[in-house]
Amino acid sequence: MILIDGKKAAADLREELKKEVLSLKDKHNKVPGLTVILIGDLAPSQIYVRNKEKSANEVGLKSEVIRYPDSVEESEVLKKIDELNNDDSVSGILVQLPLPKHIDKQKVIEAILPEKDVDGFHPMNVGNLSSGYESSIPCTPLGCYLLIKKIEPNLNGKKAVIVGRSNLNGKPMTQLLLKENCTVTITHSKTNDLKSECLKGDIIVAAVGIPELVKGDWIKKDAIVIDVGINKTENGLVGDVAFDEVSKVAKALTPVPGGVGPMTIACLLKNTIECFKRNLGD
Ligand code: NAP
Repeated sequence: MILIDGKKAAADLREELKKEVLSLKDKHNKVPGLTVILIGDLAPSQIYVRNKEKSANEVGLKSEVIRYPDSVEESEVLKKIDELNNDDSVSGILVQLPLPKHIDKQKVIEAILPEKDVDGFHPMNVGNLSSGYESSIPCTPLGCYLLIKKIEPNLNGKKAVIVGRSNLNGKPMTQLLLKENCTVTITHSKTNDLKSECLKGDIIVAAVGIPELVKGDWIKKDAIVIDVGINKTENGLVGDVAFDEVSKVAKALTPVPGGVGPMTIACLLKNTIECFKRNLGD
């Protein structure tokens, strides 16, 4: 079984991006800039943002974090986004989720210019992705896609089963695999007989949030299995896939941690560079 090393894949991608930033700097005399807005002091958000900033600096991006207390008014955040939309040195804007209850998430997402939406959450980018046009692609599914392509470059005609239909993971993942000519089944909490659906998959992507939901006897022999889940349990972090069982059947499997997670941040950097290039017509 191939243990898909997300840490290594992410490090390789960062190396490539570092070189690209240098050549963009040569050509345009400036580097792509990523601005993250962080509201409140939720510990996981603080950690994510710190990691994003560190990785952005590592590949040579201009990176900035704007911090607000939990109590910040929605209007102040929207005003700041407007400012960043009009700032040429900012290529990508990300507002770290979740937001405090009094701030309307959708309003915030839609305030970001689609051309600077490095998360790929703006309805314009969602629509473009589903229509097969150029768009920002949400970072986690983009990372999963790149890992799958490393194992199997030609996905033509493969049967893919996506477990979970969130806007963040399952739906964009579906679009990416459709574009690669997979036949895609998207499953969710109301799916009848999830096991028999999974058993049809040459590729399984699990993004649910239930520890070890996907069992070994749900997996077709030699399937590629991507585990997006990150679940805190008393035995530490586990994914949505029962790793020990599935590793005996699958051709390739991502571990948790060290699989999809590291690719998510590397793809954010990739998206920032793509936004920079698109905005300059490169
Ligand atoms: P989410 O928004 O809560 O969506 C979960 C999806 O799973 C929903 O579509 C839900 O179906 C479906 N579901 C729930 N119970 C199910 C069941 N018993 N059988 C089949 N489907 C079921 O979650 P998310 O934001 O996509 O996150 C999923 C997991 O990925 C979480 O563990 C999260 O921490 C992790 N995650 C990891 C990364 C990373 O970088 N590795 C990034 C983001 C998220 P309904 O639509 O019917 O409710």
